[in-house]
Amino acid sequence: LFAGQTDFLKGVVAMSGLPPADRTEVCFAGRSNVGKSTLINALTGRKGLARASNTPGRTQEINYFTLGDSHYLVDLPGYGYANAPLPIVEKWQKLLKSYLAGRQTLRRAFVLVDARHGIKPVDDEIMTLLDSAAVTFQCVLTKIDKVKSTQIDNVLDQVRSKLSPHPAAFPELILTSSEKGDGIATLRATIATLK
Ligand code: GDP
Repeated sequence: LFAGQTDFLKGVVAMSGLPPADRTEVCFAGRSNVGKSTLINALTGRKGLARASNTPGRTQEINYFTLGDSHYLVDLPGYGYANAPLPIVEKWQKLLKSYLAGRQTLRRAFVLVDARHGIKPVDDEIMTLLDSAAVTFQCVLTKIDKVKSTQIDNVLDQVRSKLSPHPAAFPELILTSSEKGDGIATLRATIATLK
């Protein structure tokens, strides 16, 4: 689906470090522990490509991956740490705002939400930020294998009702399990379609 090299490109800590805006770009956001690293590894077919080491100190980077020769996949720092120091949170929010508002080639954000927990207030804050930056975002439910089939409709109802006030929300949800492989091909195809 993505011809060419899929690899880690670089970690960025300031707008000046962004690679040239010469490809279609998508970004991934989500609370820490949502399963973002695991999903990126499943999506790229490269175990260990996105490191799952999420300590507040060393994950304030925007991590760029190439998806073949046509797309960048951008891994945004996980949010919602209970004990992240305020200066770190503020620095990251500033970079995030600049990135979202200023990146011309950014086509869509994928906001990852743990299917067991649904949309939390911190997710809602990020979605509001995406509304302000006019970045279309699509919700990706993770760890769907952890939810009983009888509970899935409740989760979907909660997520849909939380999304409805957000003008930038793309209505279709993608249900994934990195463990079982569900939804990975759909997510990959969705990204590939964005030009
Ligand atoms: P991150 O902090 O968002 O990068 O989260 P990780 O990718 O490190 O995942 C957090 C935890 O959730 C790890 O223990 C993963 O093994 C687990 N996990 C991730 N994806 C799935 C999934 O699809 N199903 C299940 N059951 N567990 C998952």
